[in-house]
Amino acid sequence: MRYVVIRLLSFLLIGVVVVSCSDTNNAPAPTTNTSIRDENLALGNPSGATTDASNYTNYLLVKPQYTLSYHRDRGIPNWVSWHLSSAWLGTADRQNNFTADNGLPTGWYRVTTSSYTGSGFDRGHNCPSADRTGSIEDNSATFLLSNIMPQAPNNNQRTWVGLENYCRTLVDQGNELYIICGSYGKGGVGSNGAASTLDNGRVTVPDRCWKVVVVLPVGSDDVKRVSTSTRVIAIDIPNDNSVNTSWASYRTTVDIIEQATGYDLLSVVSTSVQKILEASVDTGPTN
Ligand code: MN
Ligand code: MN
Repeated sequence: MRYVVIRLLSFLLIGVVVVSCSDTNNAPAPTTNTSIRDENLALGNPSGATTDASNYTNYLLVKPQYTLSYHRDRGIPNWVSWHLSSAWLGTADRQNNFTADNGLPTGWYRVTTSSYTGSGFDRGHNCPSADRTGSIEDNSATFLLSNIMPQAPNNNQRTWVGLENYCRTLVDQGNELYIICGSYGKGGVGSNGAASTLDNGRVTVPDRCWKVVVVLPVGSDDVKRVSTSTRVIAIDIPNDNSVNTSWASYRTTVDIIEQATGYDLLSVVSTSVQKILEASVDTGPTN
């Protein structure tokens, strides 16, 4: 008991010292609108992915930079989920070091950069390189091939990148985002025409690429702040080189993506709020 009292007194004393130090330094009081790095999977695990290696269609892979569900036999992620705030952004250059992901279970086929060579499809990022520039290590993680899907070049380089860029504009405007994206179906049209797989069937070319972006003003307790008035941007784009350049023309509802994929997106948000948010199409600014 006496020990506990002494410990409590020491904590109080340290507290007094800390408070007086910050007073003398005129340090600004901590505020709730300081950007931090939050949990990448905060809005829920859309497919109930697990870390059990026998779960080869829906394998959960957690990295410091993003969390994903991987499908061994498609050779691509089902979905990737990440938090984006200014706390993730720095000055690291684009590393361009596409690498097989040795974080996958032993014995699983490792997709390599040559799986894509000459295919007419880009190595399309799910979590973009430019969202993880805090360090060389963070940026390199986005080039792991478990984060990559075969994307029609005009989709990747024009349409898809447009929303990626707009997400960082939203961060510059004082927001933090939760982003979940992925792909589904089989068969796309790249710069060499139609294909359903690459690398002798080991990598599936998806039919469509989707993304859901939840926009919150920078703050704390993010999940609790998601309300029926929260901006949610959802897009669903054909993986076809004939897509138009405007990502905004592919806006849709979360419900439609959920129906197409069988996932429950934003699953930690109350069902009553999900019901409203997931049924509406974003009409907000696009740049
Ligand atoms: Mn890209
Ligand atoms: Mn949902």
